[in-house]
Amino acid sequence: MELDSLYQEVILDHYKHPLNKGLSENYGAQVHHVNPSCGDEITLNVTAIDGKISAITWDGVGCSISQASVSIASDLLVNKSFAEADAILNEFTELMQSKGTKEGNPDVLEDAVALAGVSKFPARIKCALLGWMAFKDAAVRINTTTGGE
Ligand code: ZN
Repeated sequence: MELDSLYQEVILDHYKHPLNKGLSENYGAQVHHVNPSCGDEITLNVTAIDGKISAITWDGVGCSISQASVSIASDLLVNKSFAEADAILNEFTELMQSKGTKEGNPDVLEDAVALAGVSKFPARIKCALLGWMAFKDAAVRINTTTGGE
């Protein structure tokens, strides 16, 4: 798999120095997602206060794409409302489904645009989406338990 070298660097940097790694003691929802085709595993804690995501922490093992992607997501989605996070997540999902035809909007996706090239490799898209799908799952559970906004 070949990615743009600058993007490769962003991914490796998140992989080597992951953000928000290490599970918080308290959380609003905890989820565990696996990607059996690659062996990636992520446990993700999401905490929300007044309808705003106040913390995302995670722990995991797996390939550099999966671990870098969850690091990026945990940084990008914190301090957002659930609606804002949902919009970002949809944009990232669209990017991953673009088969290499989209570059992604860096104003919205920030470091996540570094993963754009992954969309050309169907086998790796699940790796990139794993942490984001875990977040989506956790967000639904928090909304259900607290009654939303
Ligand atoms: Zn993987």
